[in-house]
Amino acid sequence: MDSLAAKWGGPPDPGPEGTPAPWPACSHWNEVDCVEGRRVQGDPRGPGGPPHRARSFLLLFVFTLSALAQSIPYERPVQTAPQERAIGGGYKIPAVQKPLPRFWWLQMLDVAVLAGALSLSVWIVLRRRSRRWLTVLTVGSLAYFGFYREGCICPIGSIQNVTVALADPRYSLPGVVIAVFFLPLLFALFVGRAFCGGVCPLGAIQELVVIRPVQVPRRLDRALGLLKYVYLGLAIFFALRPALARDFVICRFDPFVGFFRLTGPAHMLFLGGAFLVAGMFVGRPYCRWLCPYGGLLAWCSRLARGGVSITPNKELDCGLCAEACPYGAIEGMRAVGRNCLYCARCFASCPRDAELAHAKSALVKIS
Ligand code: SF4
Ligand code: SF4
Repeated sequence: MDSLAAKWGGPPDPGPEGTPAPWPACSHWNEVDCVEGRRVQGDPRGPGGPPHRARSFLLLFVFTLSALAQSIPYERPVQTAPQERAIGGGYKIPAVQKPLPRFWWLQMLDVAVLAGALSLSVWIVLRRRSRRWLTVLTVGSLAYFGFYREGCICPIGSIQNVTVALADPRYSLPGVVIAVFFLPLLFALFVGRAFCGGVCPLGAIQELVVIRPVQVPRRLDRALGLLKYVYLGLAIFFALRPALARDFVICRFDPFVGFFRLTGPAHMLFLGGAFLVAGMFVGRPYCRWLCPYGGLLAWCSRLARGGVSITPNKELDCGLCAEACPYGAIEGMRAVGRNCLYCARCFASCPRDAELAHAKSALVKIS
């Protein structure tokens, strides 16, 4: 008769000499909850299970929302404001808008670059499993979305635009904002937080300064992680206020946009600098504890069936990967999709991932 372990799909009994027999091949190694060689009993993520339906509903919601937003006539109040000639006296409207508006085809280009970068992030992390190529993508995204596009428009800030559009029928949402807001969430629904791995400029600037991160105690990490939901709630609250009192706090308190634009209030530049200095020793503090869009990505990632898996079919359970993750995203020897920032460091730490041995130089020492 089969042993209990074998019955549950666990490891077979030790051999006669007491040596553990090899773990059986498991077809769920991409599943973060695939514990000890078997799928967790009662895992609701099976085909057709509730999360599968939830994903379908969410997708339906996304497309319906896009269609509704597009059907609203687009009107810019600023175009109805008094112009220079009407004001007279040689008045010049100050060029305060940063970045300046772009031609529609350049906006399309931004969306195409975002979609391409997201796809590249998935391919590099899940297929190539290469930290080196991810670093190249990170630098490229920082250059394009950060310094060239001056951090705008970004999915994080677009939370506020989408919120206002949902509440105020006079507020129209351009197609480019819809695409920028939903694309990273769509990717997260299927393959996890690809946007956070080498695409988001705010994540990229923090990723590049991680030198010697410490492991933050898990309880403290979780408690601080709740702050991003508080921030998300505040951002929605201020975006929903009447037009005259409305405030886009995510943009106003973006700690890194001052670096991208090479200008900004001194206190915000100081805050951004403080985050970067802290980020040398505590991996990506803004991403883990404050980013409101990170909260949405984490929710979507819970439904993802694909995502980072540490060693797809040759698990050693030695724990080296957990020690290599600067973001505390590995629990029970598995990458936790909602917390995984797609940095590809854990691959380089794995003694079985021989093809990536060259990437070990990319590891950071964690105290
Ligand atoms: S958590 Fe937020 S800031 Fe960090 S990489 Fe993800 S979206 Fe960007
Ligand atoms: S090291 Fe951590 S954050 Fe990076 S890919 Fe691995 S599990 Fe995700």
